[in-house]
Amino acid sequence: MKLSEIYKQDKTVLSFEIFPPKAAEELKNIDETLEMLCDLNPAYISVTFGAGGSSNNNKTIEICKKIKEKYHVEPVAHLTCLSYDKPEIDEFCKELEAAGIENILALRGDVNPNAPAKGVFKYASDLIEYVKPRTNFCIAGACYPECHLESGDRVTDLRNLKTKVDAGAEVLLSQLFFDNKAFFDMVEGARIAGIDVPITPGIMPCLTVKSIQRMVSTCGATLPENFKKIVERYEDKPEAFLDAGLAYAISQIIDLLVSGCDGIHLYTMNRPAAVKRICDGIKNII
Ligand code: FAD
Repeated sequence: MKLSEIYKQDKTVLSFEIFPPKAAEELKNIDETLEMLCDLNPAYISVTFGAGGSSNNNKTIEICKKIKEKYHVEPVAHLTCLSYDKPEIDEFCKELEAAGIENILALRGDVNPNAPAKGVFKYASDLIEYVKPRTNFCIAGACYPECHLESGDRVTDLRNLKTKVDAGAEVLLSQLFFDNKAFFDMVEGARIAGIDVPITPGIMPCLTVKSIQRMVSTCGATLPENFKKIVERYEDKPEAFLDAGLAYAISQIIDLLVSGCDGIHLYTMNRPAAVKRICDGIKNII
């Protein structure tokens, strides 16, 4: 089923993101992860894609196929474009179509010195413009509650987001954030800019202090004062930190849902037990 149809159904859309494990050993365990995640009844599961030249990218397609055929859950394949040319994108699309995948998350990808840009697709909107008329995929795009790190300002970021939607993105999935106000402000700006597609908040439960430090440095997420207090108080108590991190994610989700969001996209980090604790905490809400 296409994402655009999923978001038209009259229910809250719970979805997950996973990544293809790098190690062969972990890849063998992907079934264990998928079994637990699929038991939680997600509307779809998205699978990340390497920034370029990554041998893991074929695993993205392989895992999407497994999600669909073995677990009967809708997969969404991420697809980046910065370091690919048109024949390479054509090839990925052909493989995705052959695997029966109906949805892609079209991304530019991060600038990566190990996978130099080919200069063909500069932005995600270029990829969407290219893929849209050539395929039947429902295409989603990324959005940034705290602005993309390379964006000069919020207005420019929203203008570029509008270009992405005008090119054919039918659903937007957000970057992780810890302060809901940033998400609400972005949605308000997007609606004023005439963006009328579903905008789904991406929630990353904080499971370890290390993971927060990584998130702050890679995507520039701001930590609100109440979250900083959690870090200060429990940084040397990993189990207490995990409890507090999960409770924080649940409170963020409840606030988003009561404020009218029609979906929640959980960055699972392939940690299904933690995701189950969150889903148990909201099972009568979602
Ligand atoms: P774009 O939309 O192209 O934006 C990139 C920058 O260019 C922004 O600053 C934007 O404002 C600007 N811009 C856009 N259009 C124009 C224009 N026409 N003129 C001038 N400036 C413009 N990365 C991966 O490698 N693999 C993944 O699987 C992956 N999954 C992700 C999933 C989600 C939900 C999110 C939010 C991000 C994901 N990323 C992934 C990271 C993403 O690739 C990076 O954030 C990347 O830097 C930007 O990708 P984008 O598609 O948002 O780029």
